[in-house]
Amino acid sequence: MSEQLTHFVDGKRAALDSTRTSPIFNPSTGRQSGEVLLASKADTERVIASSQAAFEQWSAFSPLKRARVLFKYKALLETHADELARLIAKEHGKVLSDARGELTRGLEVVEFACGMPHLQKGEHSLNVGPGIDSYSMMQPLGVCAGITPFNFPAMVPLWMFPIAIAAGNTFVLKPSEKDPSSTLRIAELFSEAGLPDGVLNVVNGDKEAVDTLLTDPRVQAVSFVGSTPIAEYVYATASAHGKRVQALGGAKNHMVIMPDADLDQAADALMGAAYGSAGERCMAISVAMPVGEKTAEALREKILSRLDELRVGESITDGPDHDMGPLVSRQHLEKVSGYIEQGINEGAELVRDGRRLDHGTDGFFIGGTLFDHVKPGMRIYDEEIFGPVLVIARAESFDAAVKMVNDHEFGNGTAIFTRDGDSARQYCERIQVGMVGVNVPIPVPMAFHSFGGWKRSLFGALHVHGADGVRFYTRMKTVTARWPSGLREATNQYTMPTL
Ligand code: NAD
Repeated sequence: MSEQLTHFVDGKRAALDSTRTSPIFNPSTGRQSGEVLLASKADTERVIASSQAAFEQWSAFSPLKRARVLFKYKALLETHADELARLIAKEHGKVLSDARGELTRGLEVVEFACGMPHLQKGEHSLNVGPGIDSYSMMQPLGVCAGITPFNFPAMVPLWMFPIAIAAGNTFVLKPSEKDPSSTLRIAELFSEAGLPDGVLNVVNGDKEAVDTLLTDPRVQAVSFVGSTPIAEYVYATASAHGKRVQALGGAKNHMVIMPDADLDQAADALMGAAYGSAGERCMAISVAMPVGEKTAEALREKILSRLDELRVGESITDGPDHDMGPLVSRQHLEKVSGYIEQGINEGAELVRDGRRLDHGTDGFFIGGTLFDHVKPGMRIYDEEIFGPVLVIARAESFDAAVKMVNDHEFGNGTAIFTRDGDSARQYCERIQVGMVGVNVPIPVPMAFHSFGGWKRSLFGALHVHGADGVRFYTRMKTVTARWPSGLREATNQYTMPTL
């Protein structure tokens, strides 16, 4: 009998009224491991009501009292790290060491949110006029919602709710229906750390639950991470319903390799960045862009020899980890295989075909794939594949490389590999991408900086976590105050006051 996953409401796991379900698979075996309930509109409204009811008490707690719950939460996440990593690996398919890495990056946001009493301080100016002081407050918004993707079932939710909750908001989280076990467990652990019931609720579901969150007037802000078409829809719908929105979308991240780069270092970096987590990362490098034919030829050989050694296998093993596990689902495997066929039809050179991998199981496996001579206009260049498919798009010059990156519709992450400071500096300045690495292949900002792309990789003004995260989950109010001794000098004034 497979496990049925419910929702997490008012501090406990609960099945609501809807009995619709979605299957959950173990991608390493291809077998169904369970199912998750999908909430109806009425179910979702009930969950929002719980978070709304919890807001008054939670927002009135002192910032320090709220932060103390986060300190306990951090300790509990550390104690349960191995259990959580196993849940992630089992349902997502990424290997255990990678799942542990995801958890650590999420935990760092909890550590950042522990500092909220300091981060949420407003500003104060004395004597802005005769006897007048001015100060600002950063107040919580109310109920915030988070809608998250399958590829980081723990880290992406942890980008959002620790900061929102530490700031005094309550939160409704709608995880991906593909791998919700670890997400439910991190919510449960927050309760065990002392979070009052209803401050963090998890509603499992699909479009019906999402649409309810986007339109319900009690929800004040929506954070979304997922594919670009849904990000755009979420941004438009929730904005039209008067909500604050940040919606992070898809990516096609380029690594530009200059002729002066250390090519062994660049090839090593490309292997992890392109094939780690089977390419199912929004910061994966999916385009290698060597500058000049000589660089391209040498780089291609180095990648090919490393591909011979790429170890693909189950996400959880008794021995050492593989380098990469399976894709998340059979549908996704078919989609990625379809892109490979498309690349051949479009005239790109298929140098290594991952579809040839014979794993001997029904798992959703595909091997590392490499295309060369890929150009803008081909779908394998223009679109996000989200699989272990690296394409080499050759650039004639540094300027041509910058132009191709800037012309691409996505602008999430990018990297340049070079020994030349001038090229690196110019690249950082001219490139229209939100996160840039210099000799760093996956430049994911730390929790105390902010994460977010440009162009069609992010809809909204504010990035996630860091200073932008604090701004997103707080509303500023500015008070200008005069006390009786200052009032003595005040006279009726009919013109615009100037000080
Ligand atoms: P997805 O867009 O299919 O799903 C994301 C969330 O939206 C899920 O919770 C899903 O249930 C919900 N959803 C799906 N279809 C919907 C619909 N029609 N209406 C309303 N809600 C809907 O994304 P995914 O496949 O889970 O995740 C992979 C994508 O996420 C990739 O495109 C990847 O680049 C992107 N991603 C981006 C970032 C980033 O920071 N920019 C980070 C991680 C993942």
